[in-house]
Amino acid sequence: MPEVIKADHDLFAKMKQTYANPASKLAPGAVFHAKMPGVTVTGYRTGKVLFQGKLAAQEAARWNTTTIVNKNSKVTTHTDNLPTGFPSWSVLGSDEVGTGSYFGPLTTAAVFVTKNQGDELQELGVQDSKKLTDPTIIKLAKQIMRLCPYHVVNLDPKDYNRLIKQYNQAQLKALCHNLVLGKVLQKIQPQHPQAILIDQFVSPSTYYRYLNGQPEIVKQNVYFREKGESYHVAVAAASIVARYYSLQSMDQLSQMAGLTLPIGAGQKVDQVAVKLVQKGLDLGDFAKLHFANTQKVNRLLRNIN
Ligand code: MN
Repeated sequence: MPEVIKADHDLFAKMKQTYANPASKLAPGAVFHAKMPGVTVTGYRTGKVLFQGKLAAQEAARWNTTTIVNKNSKVTTHTDNLPTGFPSWSVLGSDEVGTGSYFGPLTTAAVFVTKNQGDELQELGVQDSKKLTDPTIIKLAKQIMRLCPYHVVNLDPKDYNRLIKQYNQAQLKALCHNLVLGKVLQKIQPQHPQAILIDQFVSPSTYYRYLNGQPEIVKQNVYFREKGESYHVAVAAASIVARYYSLQSMDQLSQMAGLTLPIGAGQKVDQVAVKLVQKGLDLGDFAKLHFANTQKVNRLLRNIN
C-alpha cells in the first residue's frame, strides 16, 4: 500500500535532505526521488511525499508524523514530533476501555492534568492501566479523581446495544471521546489545556468524519497518538479512571448475574454467557450483543437443548 505524508515546510526539508539523489530522474512536479530496496520515495512540490513498495509503511513510519487539528482548519498531517516539552504541558487526555470485552460497559474518560500535576501523578505510579493490577487501579483512580478534573461516560451494555444499532463501534468511541473532552473543558473554564491528547483508535480524519453533525466538536489543539499514555500522563490517568468505572460496573453486573463475569471475548466468556441464558437472564443486559460470541452462545445452547 502506498503511503503519503503531507509534510510541512520543515519536515519536507528534512526529508529532502535524507532522500534527494542528484542522479535520479524527476517526474513532473517532483522535487526529490529515491529508489531503495523495497521502497521508493518521491517528494512533490505540493509537500506530499509518496512512499511506494513493500516497505512503504515502515519507511513512512520513520518520520513519526503527528496529526494536529486546529480550530476551523482541516485535518493536516504535519511535523514529525509533538511540541518540545509536551510531557510537562497541561494536557487534557482521553482514553476508553471495554471495546474488546464481551461482558461489561464501554467506558470513556477524560482527565485534565495541569503543568504541576504531571510529576506528582507519575510519582504516584500513574501509567498504562493495562500494566496495573485491579487494586492498584482502584487506589490510583481515587487519587486522580481527587486531584484532577475529569469526566466519564460509562455506557452499560443495555445502552451500548441500543446505540450500536445506529453507530459502528469506532464511531461510538469517537462520540464518547468528544463528549468527555467537551465536559472537562466546560468544568475547567476559564482555564484551557495547552493541548488535548486522544489515545488514537482511528485516523484523525475518520474521527472527525464520525463527529459530523455533532453540536459541539472539540477540535482546538487536538493531537492523536497511539499508545497515548507514553506521550502524556493525562492519557494514562484517563485510562485508569476509565478502568476503575469499568471494574465497578463489572462487579455490579456480576452481582446481578449471580456469578463472576470474565473480561475478554474468549471461550470462558461463551460458557458464562450460556449460564446466564440458562438462568433466564437477558444477555443484552450484560454483554455487547454484536460480538461474534452471541452466535457461539446460541449455537452452544442449541446443542445443549
Ligand atoms: Mn486506548
